[in-house]
Amino acid sequence: MIYDPKSNNAEEFINHEEILESLEYAKVNKDNKELIEGILDKANRAKGLTHKEAAILIECEDQELVERMFKLAEDLKKRFYGNRIVMVAPLYLSNYCVNGCVYCPYHAQNKHIARKKLTQEEIKQEVIALQDLGHKRLALEAGEDPINNPIDYILECIKTIYSIKHENGAIRRVNVNIAATTIENYKKLKDAEIGTYILFQETYNKKSYEALHPTGPKHNYKYHTEAHDRAMEAGIDDVGLGVLYGLSTYKYELVGQIMHAEHLEAKFGVGPHTISIPRLRPADDVDPEQFPDALSDDIFAKIIAIIRLAVPYTGMIISARESQEMRRRALHLGVSQMGGGSKTSVGGYNQENKDEEGTTSEQFDVNDTRSLDEIVNWLLNMNYIPSFCTACYREGRTGDRFMALCKNEQISNCCQPNAIMTLKEYLEDYAKEDTKEAGEHLIEKEIKKIPKDKVREIVEDRLVKIAEGQRDFRF
Ligand code: SF4
Ligand code: SF4
Repeated sequence: MIYDPKSNNAEEFINHEEILESLEYAKVNKDNKELIEGILDKANRAKGLTHKEAAILIECEDQELVERMFKLAEDLKKRFYGNRIVMVAPLYLSNYCVNGCVYCPYHAQNKHIARKKLTQEEIKQEVIALQDLGHKRLALEAGEDPINNPIDYILECIKTIYSIKHENGAIRRVNVNIAATTIENYKKLKDAEIGTYILFQETYNKKSYEALHPTGPKHNYKYHTEAHDRAMEAGIDDVGLGVLYGLSTYKYELVGQIMHAEHLEAKFGVGPHTISIPRLRPADDVDPEQFPDALSDDIFAKIIAIIRLAVPYTGMIISARESQEMRRRALHLGVSQMGGGSKTSVGGYNQENKDEEGTTSEQFDVNDTRSLDEIVNWLLNMNYIPSFCTACYREGRTGDRFMALCKNEQISNCCQPNAIMTLKEYLEDYAKEDTKEAGEHLIEKEIKKIPKDKVREIVEDRLVKIAEGQRDFRF
């Protein structure tokens, strides 16, 4: 196999030999300060890094240079997206699954968890509960099961979710994280107006991948790894990547992940819309002894920063798997989206579903168990704007249109006013008293920072209208 970022073949665009060579080259150059400083200067120009350059950074152990990486990652995030942090929530539709992923409690062989698939009525209740928390953006999760969770079921769920308007609530963007599928099914998801199609690679190492997915359709490395290409060929503009860090050796994974981003750029001219950074967590029927590659917080922090330097335009998502402290650290390393008040079980949001029959065990342990309001309050106190914005996809700013704005460092001109207005909606409809106070205070400060007079006037006018009860303004 030869390395070819434009290839249609997974084993050519994620090329094993090229990854090993890059890691070898990085080892030889790990103390080459001049080379590393040159890479950091390049990162500072915000044009991204190659997988080889990322490999050198992950090998670098010079504390001064690592600190420079961290600082640069935060600066880049601010240059691209400002100080807004987009809030998102997972919604689990079904834990029926025919796959045998050894790190996931929903694997088909696990007989001691209850299996559940939400009915449309239960989805309605879950969505109302999510709307009542203040969420506007969801990521749908479902196991792979052609009988229990066929594509028509997923499409019906999406339709139901978009149709529910409880009081001032609305889910305005539904991202979808379901198993690799056919171009035909991706077209159906596109027609159902999904936001981002997210698929985690889990591991880029083919050998580990096959061992960790011993049974079921997910065993097919090639079909899985080429899924984002099929989604884009089907017209889905925005796709999301993710590695489950801790499954396999992290240096290999990081290089593979950057190669995947390079491939999407080379083939479609549009890199990954988001990169998620999940890390392996304890769960039912998952043996931690099986995973000797678990990562320390310090290494995880370095990975986050390097992804931001290498793919500066991408949205980076950290879930509630991570502790409050790790999430605080990650915010300073380039993370731009986070889960808040997340439940990782089927039927986890609605009180009525919380009896023995109505909810299932979690897919993984949530570490940050704070409510959405507590997280919003916490972000405000660190001078971040918690944002419930979904404007881009609703304004047709997706794919290359989004990337053009983003890469020119223009998107923050939309992010900031939209964050202010959607935060205002949240404060009016859902916030507790002290959160409201902290939020109003931040909004006052943030309005002054809007550079264009005209935009500032429009935002001021819309804030008054939101206080009077109008909703859903956007730039
Ligand atoms: Fe199924 Fe996904 Fe869990 Fe694998 S990770 S067992 S595909 S739900
Ligand atoms: Fe995201 Fe676009 Fe809103 Fe910015 S303006 S927060 S990029 S949807």
